[in-house]
Amino acid sequence: MVFLNSNFFVKPGSWLGLVGGGQLGRMFCHSAQNLGYKVVVLDPSDISPAVSVADLHIKSSYDDKNGLERLSSICKSVTIEFENIPFSSLEFLSKRNVLTPTASSVAIAQNRIFEKNFISSLNVDVAPYKVIVNKTDCDLIDHDFFPGILKVAKLGYDGKGQVTVREKKELKDKFVFLGEVPCVLEKFLSLDREISVVVARNLDGDCVVFPPAINFHECGILSSSVVTRSNHEIYDNTCFSEVCSIAKKIAESLNYYGVLCVEFFVVDNNIIVNEIAPRPHNSGHYSMDACFTSQFEQQVRIMSGLPLGNTELLSSSIMINLLGDVWFGSDGNLIEPDWRKLLSISGLKLHLYGKEEARRSRKMGHVTLLGNDIYDLDEKAYDLSLILGINYTKISKV
Ligand code: ADP
Ligand code: MG
Repeated sequence: MVFLNSNFFVKPGSWLGLVGGGQLGRMFCHSAQNLGYKVVVLDPSDISPAVSVADLHIKSSYDDKNGLERLSSICKSVTIEFENIPFSSLEFLSKRNVLTPTASSVAIAQNRIFEKNFISSLNVDVAPYKVIVNKTDCDLIDHDFFPGILKVAKLGYDGKGQVTVREKKELKDKFVFLGEVPCVLEKFLSLDREISVVVARNLDGDCVVFPPAINFHECGILSSSVVTRSNHEIYDNTCFSEVCSIAKKIAESLNYYGVLCVEFFVVDNNIIVNEIAPRPHNSGHYSMDACFTSQFEQQVRIMSGLPLGNTELLSSSIMINLLGDVWFGSDGNLIEPDWRKLLSISGLKLHLYGKEEARRSRKMGHVTLLGNDIYDLDEKAYDLSLILGINYTKISKV
């Protein structure tokens, strides 16, 4: 990296660079602008959630040298909002700018095979897995490894790029279905709990964690995250200190700079790392409203050489994702959600990402319910699910 010592400082009013134009980038822009920075976003699309709020847009593909050079020349410090940026582009930027996270950290998180190797090398458990790179590999797996989940090694997200494989004889077809690209086959685990921890590590190596979130998924997509000031009230939180120390250990071992999310599975009281994301994470969105400092502000602070913010929880919270499905009525026609009714729920914060077209499974926004009584929030979340026509399983019933 170009320049890295504890005196590194980009003062408010300066430009910060961002690669990627999605909703995580949009929320990053808002945080950066709140601190007085201007943001230049490199993204290939004409319009996107981050592009529409950025101070400047470089419309360029992620591997276009001219676009990258322009980005480099405008700002000292660059970050990313999604991991699938070509490694060569990240290297290019690291030669000219302070890039957080570094290209080598992103390279590990970009590829499930590297990711699992790395995490296992720290003596941290991952789900039992096999690497599949060609059809012959499919023959080598024992029958008792099934049922499993076959996941593409690169470019998967929100449950995309993965299929369940009930038994061995299905494996080859599923591998072909995924395009015969390198994959990992994971054992299908019966999950007691999914937890995530967002870590923020600065250029001096100081590291803080946000309170763990308990996550609920539907069809591989995060649907809600629950964070309480006293989690033991509703869940056995004995593993919380352990997940936080594993998350820190991963960040430190990667020599990671920036915001990192570590996703965990809890299976029979064992803690397993599912995957890591080298950026703020959907399950950390609660921090925008429920913590002193949000995960996005932390990203801004780190890349600017500002001190890390306080991650303490101010309020319990339930974050619920708003997928495009919310815009579809029971007859399948598009219908605007009843925002006025939604916003009449007290303690509810609405975040919409400015996406013009609602599509099923597309992340359009989220809401965060705030308050100190988690059961009260649970009731509100249930009311909200009726207003929006979504599924919500009460915490008390999980
Ligand atoms: P993505 O990159 O799409 O988030 P994940 O690997 O995190 O991919 O998988 C998405 C979700 O699918 C997980 O949060 C979990 O609910 C479920 N899942 C993934 N792997 C397994 C597994 N090995 N066993 C059981 N459930 C799994
Ligand atoms: Mg995941």
